[in-house]
Amino acid sequence: MKVEITNLTKEKRRTAGKMPALTEILRGTFIKCYLECIRPNCRCHKNKKYRHGPYYRVSYGKKNRMHHIYVPIHLKEMVQKWTENYEKIWQAIETISALNIKIIRKSSRK
Ligand SMILES: [Zn+2]
Repeated sequence: MKVEITNLTKEKRRTAGKMPALTEILRGTFIKCYLECIRPNCRCHKNKKYRHGPYYRVSYGKKNRMHHIYVPIHLKEMVQKWTENYEKIWQAIETISALNIKIIRKSSRK
């Protein structure tokens, strides 16, 4: 039983150790999009394959409303990583939480 708890504790540390830095997160959805322009005669209005882009944006919820912000091309990789990191941190929190439940269970059985 003690060995099991030690292993669970090690697993918690491993999970926490793989977590991205808390400063490198963004709660939102990273989106790649192609858009129509405002020039009335542009071919982008006739066929979707001629739309301009790609452009990148992040959509996020705030005060029960969805918002979005365009991401400058030079920040694309970093911002995408931030949104992925947000998910990774939540997954780590869920994993560690589940491991702590197991630790309580193992500790209760005498
Ligand atoms: Zn156009």
